[in-house]
Parts: sequence; C-alpha cells; structure tokens
Amino acid sequence: MSSTIQAGIRVWVPLRNQMAIGMVVRVHGEKPAFDTLSIQKALDTTPILSEELLALSEWVHQFYYCSLGEVVQAALPSGLNFVSKKYVRASSGSRLDDLSESELEIIQALEEEDILLKEAKKRWQTATYKKAFNKLIKNELVRIWEEPEQKLSPKTEKQWFWTLGKDELDTRLQTYISNSRKWAEALRQLVELQLPLSQVRLEKEFGISASSLQRIEKEGLIEPRMVEVSSLDHRYTYAPENIKELNTQQKDAYTQIKEGIDKQAYTNLVLYGVTGSGKTEVYIHAIKHCLQQQKGALILLPEIALTPQTVSRFYEIFGDDIAVLHSRLNDRQRAEAWRRLEDGSCSIAIGARSAVFAPVQNLGIVIMDEEHDNSYKQEDPAPRYHAREVAIMRALHNNAVIVLGSATPSMNALHLVSTKKAKLLELNQRHADATLPNVKLINLTEYRSAMRGPLAIPLYEGVQSALSRNEQIILLQNRRGFSNYLQCNTCGHIPQSPDCSVSLTYHKQKNMLLCHYSGYSRRADTHCENCQSADLSAKGLGSEQVEQQIQDLFPGAKTLRMDRDTTSGKHAHSTIINAFASGEADILIGTQLVAKGLDFPNVTVVGVIDADTELAFPSFQSAERTFQLLSQVAGRAGRSQKKGEVFIQTSLPEALSEVQTHDFKAFARKELSFRKTLYYPPYSRLIGISFKGKSQHSVAEAAKVFAECTLRVLDEGQVLGPSPSTITKLYQHYYWEFTIKLDIEKGAKSIEHLLDTIMDMYKKANPPSSVRINVNVGKIT
Ligand code: ADP
Ligand code: ZN
Repeated sequence: MSSTIQAGIRVWVPLRNQMAIGMVVRVHGEKPAFDTLSIQKALDTTPILSEELLALSEWVHQFYYCSLGEVVQAALPSGLNFVSKKYVRASSGSRLDDLSESELEIIQALEEEDILLKEAKKRWQTATYKKAFNKLIKNELVRIWEEPEQKLSPKTEKQWFWTLGKDELDTRLQTYISNSRKWAEALRQLVELQLPLSQVRLEKEFGISASSLQRIEKEGLIEPRMVEVSSLDHRYTYAPENIKELNTQQKDAYTQIKEGIDKQAYTNLVLYGVTGSGKTEVYIHAIKHCLQQQKGALILLPEIALTPQTVSRFYEIFGDDIAVLHSRLNDRQRAEAWRRLEDGSCSIAIGARSAVFAPVQNLGIVIMDEEHDNSYKQEDPAPRYHAREVAIMRALHNNAVIVLGSATPSMNALHLVSTKKAKLLELNQRHADATLPNVKLINLTEYRSAMRGPLAIPLYEGVQSALSRNEQIILLQNRRGFSNYLQCNTCGHIPQSPDCSVSLTYHKQKNMLLCHYSGYSRRADTHCENCQSADLSAKGLGSEQVEQQIQDLFPGAKTLRMDRDTTSGKHAHSTIINAFASGEADILIGTQLVAKGLDFPNVTVVGVIDADTELAFPSFQSAERTFQLLSQVAGRAGRSQKKGEVFIQTSLPEALSEVQTHDFKAFARKELSFRKTLYYPPYSRLIGISFKGKSQHSVAEAAKVFAECTLRVLDEGQVLGPSPSTITKLYQHYYWEFTIKLDIEKGAKSIEHLLDTIMDMYKKANPPSSVRINVNVGKIT
C-alpha cells in the first residue's frame, strides 16, 4: 500500500460485499491468518485522530466495553464524518443497440454526468422510465457506485472585490462622476466603504442592491468571489486586563498547580473550594501560566450551553485562543472549532462531556469544574464513559496536570485523595467580604397549617423582606411541569403512559399530559379514563405551578422561570439569565438549572420548595446528589457584601443537618463509611447490565441466565439482581437489570477480560436470542 496509510486516517474498504469506512489503528508487517482485501482509498491525508487520541480511544474501548468505532464516533465531531453516497453511472463502452427510447435517454444523461441514486430515482419516477432504469441496472449498462463524502463542506459567502488596482480605479471613476444613476451612486458608496465586503452586508447594512452590484460588475470594476468564512460567532467581550489578582488562599492553590505544570509530570489535584471562593479565578491564572509554557488547556464544564456566565469569564481573558464546543453548536461550527484546535490556531478548548476528546495540542492542563456533576457520565448510546475517568487518563498520557474542582467533591474524587492518588487543595472562604449564607431547615411536618401557597411562613417572610429591600430571590423546585400528575378523586386513578410504566406529567399551560420518558403526549383528560368521573385534580408540584402560586402571593413582584420548558430555544437560557442579572425580575423560579454556576450579586434569599423529592430518588447516590444540589443552590445566595439567607423545606430535616452547617467534610465522612459498608462506589465500580426486549418472559430469562454465568466467576457479594428495572416498560420494551460490583482498582484489561469471559459463557448457555444486552461500566445510579 502507498505510504499515505498511517494510524489515525480513515480509509474506504471492502467489507463482505459492501464498502465501508474504517480507521487505520496500526500499521504493521505481520501476515494475518485470514484472507485480506485491499484498501481502496485513503480518506484523510493526515491523521484525523492523533496518536494520543487514538491511544485514548483504545483505552475507552477496553474500559467501557464498547466497540472502537463507537468511541471514534463519540470523539470526532459529526461534521467531520463521512457519509456514503450512492451514484449511478453509465458503464463505459456499453452496447447501445436494442435500447428503447427511454433507456437511451437515461444512458445519454448519465454519460454526461454521474447522478445521485436518490436523484435518479426522482428524475425517472414515471412508470416507463422507472422500468427502463431498472432494466439498465439489471443488464449492467448502468451501475450503482458508492462513494464516501465529507458530510460538510466549509461555509462560504459571496464577497465583492475590486478588479482594478488603485490608480487604474481612480482614473476609471472619473468617468462616472456626473452619472446620477442609482448604480453609479452605489459605486461612489463602494469607494467610501472598503472592499471586499460580503453581498449580505452590502445589501443589509448599506442598502446597496444586488442589481446595482451586477451593473457595476458589468462595467468591469468589481467581481464576486466565494470566500470561506468562519461559522463561529462570539458574543463575548475580550478584556484581558480584567484579570483579577489572587487572594492568599487562591495563590496557594495556584502555586501548587503551577508547580505541576512546570514539572511536566502527571499531577492530580482535587480543588475543594466552597461556592464563591473563586475557583474560576484560580483556573484562569493556571491556564495563563500553562499558555506561557507553550502548552494547551482543556476546560470541562457540565452542560456548558447552560453556563454562559462562566464561559464569558474565560473568554474575557483568553479571547480567540478559545474554541468552545457545546451541544447547541451546529455540525459546521463544531467541526470548525475542532479544526482550530487541531491546527493549533486555538490552544484552549472549553466544552462539556465530549470535549474531553478535543484535539488540544501539547496538552498541559485539564480542568474539570463541578467534577461531581452527573452530566459527565454518558448513559446512552455507548460509549458510556465518565469524562472524569477519561480526563484523568488523558492527563496521564500527556504528563499533564488535572484539576478536579468542586464545592462538593464527588466521593470518587475524595477517594483519590485518601488513597494518595490525588492531592487536596482547599479554598474554605468566600472571596473578600462575602460570607457563606445562613441556612435554615424548615420542617414541613411542623408547618402544615402555616403555609402560604407552597411556602412555609419563614420562607414567605424571607421572600417578602428581600422584595422590600429590592433584592432578588431564587426558588428551586426540581421538577418541571405544572404538577406531577393528574389524579381522579373518585377512584384514585392516575393516567399512565401507554409506552412506559410511569405516570404522565401534567403541563397546565399547554393543557397536556406528557410522558417525560417517551415524549408521548395528549390533551389533558377531562374525565377519568377508568371511572368517567369529572372530579380530577392536579397533584404534586412542578416549577410551572410554583411560579403561578408565587405570582398570586406576590402580585407586585416580577418572576422568571428557568426549566427545560422555558429554555428550549437557542438563546432562551442566556436571555433569562441576562434579564435576571439586569434586574428585570425579582424572583427566579426553576429546576436544578437555577443551581448551576450562576453569579448574581443581588440575590440574598434562596428557597428550596421541597428537598424530599431528591432524597426519595432511588439511587445509592441520592444523599450525595441532594447535598450537592442543595449546597449548589444555597451557594447562589449572598455572593457579594450582602448577607445571604437560605430556606430549605423538607420533611426529613435530620438527613440534611450538614447542609445547614456547611459541613461538607462531616457529610463526606458519613457517606464514605456508608459506601464502604455496602461495598458501593468509590470502593467498588458498578457495572450495570441491562436486558431489553419485547417479550417480558425472554427478558427475565436472559437476565437470569446472565446472573448464573456471572456467579460462576464472581462472589455473591459482588452481584445485585437480576431484577426488573425501576421503569420496567419503556417504548413498548421490557427491561431487566443486573449489577456487578467490581474492585475499584481493576483496570481496563481486567474489566474487558471479565466481561468477555461472562459473555462467552452466556452465549454458550443458549439465551433467548431476541434480548438486547447493554453494558454500562461505572454506572452511577
Ligand atoms: P466559584 O467558582 O468558586 O464559585 P467564583 O470564581 O465564581 O467562585 O468567584 C465568586 C465571586 O468572587 C466572583 O464574582 C468573582 O469575580 C469574585 N472573585 C473571586 N476571586 C477574586 C479575586 N481574587 N479578586 C476579585 N474578585 C474575585
Ligand atoms: Zn376515576
């Protein structure tokens, strides 16, 4: 094969009787034991995945027990993918006698150019032509041809250029001086503006019409060209002089990070900094130092599209050196951001989970902010990776520093510290005059008769007094929709999703019942589908209903709501944040979205309407998640000189005592000892195996067979289940699950070996064939 074949390039290869896109993972001279076919074509001239990212992908493939192809797909932005396109082409030298008129017509058209199969079918869709077309294919006079094609071409725009040099142009312009036609006026305008300019701007901003431009072109003065342009738009300010001086605690943390960068050795640091302690400022200084050492930086944020405030702080200091990658970019923008990192025109990548694969060159530091956030774990589809684990691996491969930052470090990060695999850095005070807010737990069982709508009296009064001081309030109700469900008061029936074993959520504004799993929706029932009673009422409380009740309670106050329903538009989320930041509303109500990374100095009161919904979540992580969410939302209060107050309504105040005292360490000690006793993460790694199928019986059978096989190689203490999943029926499919607890120290090789062994035994045991198995290494619930 030619020398262009190297690891990391994609190739077009025959696979059985088809063509497929593959990636070269290794070039070697060993003769395989099977017959081989030739590579037909290299699709890249330089590796699309560097040696480093290829090695990382292989690790992910082993560790998370998924195919390498799945990893490569997750790593590459989809805009850089190839898609295979089918063309039709006339066979060369075909004999053209004996052809019907329509056959001849088709052949002649195809001799001029190849046509996409899809278009050919459309063009020749009438009965006569269709018959002719199919006959030509059958007789091999026309052949179907498959070619891979880059999914996206670069974005271009039409720009206008002068055709003449300056002197020549000046001379020519004399001729038009007394011409008063519209196009001549436009010409004089063009002389004022400097070309090249895009046609769109000329028309929209300067009011020069397309016909005037064409007329001037006719005079031979200007010409249009298609020019490649950036598809990224930055709506951030760049002001690097605004970098802040670090305080003493921040300096200490920064110094340790700096030492790691200078040593050029893998260094894992857990930055535990209370909310508002200024972790972001530490990151900024660390990145600055890293860039001065000619090294690149990778910043991971959870759900980055939803944290524009944080992104803008990095952008302020580093400007165009940043490539932002997030889910709301379109394919073309993503591909461009990726390319800019790859060719070194940007040295900093900021992104959510999948940015852990961003091709930052010469990586010196990886920063994972809010490292405890569950959105770092990909659930579906495979690879079901956790960005924290992948990021650690990446730092290791690059001899880089990794900083895992959080106000509520994950139990996993704390375990790294206690086993000396990471070092703890602490910021235990808020910056300058700001102090941590006062937290009050309100025992709902004692306030039954002292409620104002959804608020117990103390919270109600807190809101009222903040309003009277012109300060702002955030209220959290971590459940969207109007109320949880609709219930019949006569027979107790609750409408269920027809696809899934969950009740339907009631959305009042749209008057709809919605399944939050399958997306099924219908107009809200007026009569009970079970007993036909018209006495139905809304039960449970969603963010939408909270907003309505708050408006009734405080008619003079302006409210804003932030949840998945109000943030679906492209800029809806930042619009809400900006409106609240500029004081257009007094009260922000929302789901967990209001807890994430927001910094509003005028917020002094935070209220949690019902903390129990979190605690009730069926997961070994529910206590940890509750603590994280509550301290995160509490952290939104009192971020400037004004003292903050937090009210948490709950029926289980004992479970939340450490939230009240901001004593994360006490909470962590208690939680870790509980995890250790039950052999849960971080002491073990959970491998979830899920079984899915249309027959309930087969699914149960498959799960049982799998469990039997597992017990041949593992102890009983290492397996949980099998059992039907919490949601046993989803989209007409049944689900069972089974969990393995594996020693946390076991690495990629032993995970792969163990699962291979079990899968082999399972296949030999003749399980029902219609059941699909998914493996989720490191599952988190
Ligand atoms: P965290 O990320 O730990 O929650 P932030 O980095 O958002 O904290 O900082 C909280 C607030 O304190 C921000 O408004 C930030 O600008 C301010 N701040 C933090 N450190 C400094 C500093 N060294 N100088 C001036 N302001 C700071
Ligand atoms: Zn009923």
